[in-house]
Amino acid sequence: MKVELTDLTKKFDDLVAVNGVSLTVKDGEFLTLVGPSGCGKSTILRCVTGLEVPTSGRILFDGKDVTDQQPQERGIAMVFQNYALYPHMTARRNMSFALEDESLSKAEIESRISETAEMLGIGDHLDQIPEELSGGQKQRVALGRSLVRNPDIILMDEPLSNLDAKLRIELRAELQKIHQELETTTVYVTHDQEEAMTMSDRIVVLNDGEIQQVSSPEAAYNRPENRFVADFIGSPGMNFMRCRLQGGTIRAGPFSFDLPDAAEGKPTEIGIRPEDISLAEREGGDGTVGEVNVFEHIGPYNIVYLDVEDIGEIVAQIPASQYFDIGQSVSISVRNDRIHLFNETGRTIYN
Ligand code: ATP
Repeated sequence: MKVELTDLTKKFDDLVAVNGVSLTVKDGEFLTLVGPSGCGKSTILRCVTGLEVPTSGRILFDGKDVTDQQPQERGIAMVFQNYALYPHMTARRNMSFALEDESLSKAEIESRISETAEMLGIGDHLDQIPEELSGGQKQRVALGRSLVRNPDIILMDEPLSNLDAKLRIELRAELQKIHQELETTTVYVTHDQEEAMTMSDRIVVLNDGEIQQVSSPEAAYNRPENRFVADFIGSPGMNFMRCRLQGGTIRAGPFSFDLPDAAEGKPTEIGIRPEDISLAEREGGDGTVGEVNVFEHIGPYNIVYLDVEDIGEIVAQIPASQYFDIGQSVSISVRNDRIHLFNETGRTIYN
């Protein structure tokens, strides 16, 4: 089912939580709202469910205006961070409860529950109550409770936030598989850019109640439309340096880049991702020099924080096989074809 938001605004007294958001979620799409705490993602989701009434704007499902419909009329399932299971009911009962309003035979309910439980790997836990389940199992039950209803739309609000890192990654992959199988329109909310990047067909980056970019995860990473998106997406984050344009050459401290087509617009800042910086042992006196402040072994790669004259600290991501000592002076090179330029309003003028 297609979901359309047109000029959606939600105010709480003077506070504008959502400011004129227009957005279409395609039928069968996995779309993620991502942004820092307080940017309005949950409020948008709650407006879609009907738990919150928008101050202005409309919400359409497959072209039909549902803005004034009650939550239970909307055919939506919701999965929350805190599972929201009934504590005294078994997993099976938590799931079947969701089906009570639908006129289904006992056999049909049973088969839907066992099919869903099988898909989620909780077939052996159906007779346990939430207290007897791990966090991951509880969230699988909560997900199962949503899926047994064959909803037209699934909304998920930070469903993995209460789980430990390893389980989050595991469930992330499972959610993707389930979505590939069921193709239910899914709107997912997270503050975790990595979660957004890995699971979604498209992401919507929000800040202060407003859309910053709607695009594929890959485009948000490689072609951010503004400085906020460039900064928010990617970990460790992009390096930003003040810069100026001099006759087709961008200069930032000791760095210089020849970019004839960047002469359009007035760049004030350059952005460089840590993985687009490479480091080498110094040979002779040439090149841009940095001094190693911090060296982190991550496993598949190393992270280095360096001091650069006239710039301050920058961060580089280098191959796991490369080592430098703290205090060591190294030469720095940057991939020319990967830099980003921003103007004084923070808009991207070169990607
Ligand atoms: P988080 O990741 O912290 O949940 P969020 O991006 O989901 O943040 P929202 O929960 O949508 O943000 O909140 C957006 C803004 O609206 C915040 O400033 C929040 O304090 C405010 N807000 C949300 N709900 C209410 C409410 N019921 N009454 C008053 N203000 C609210």
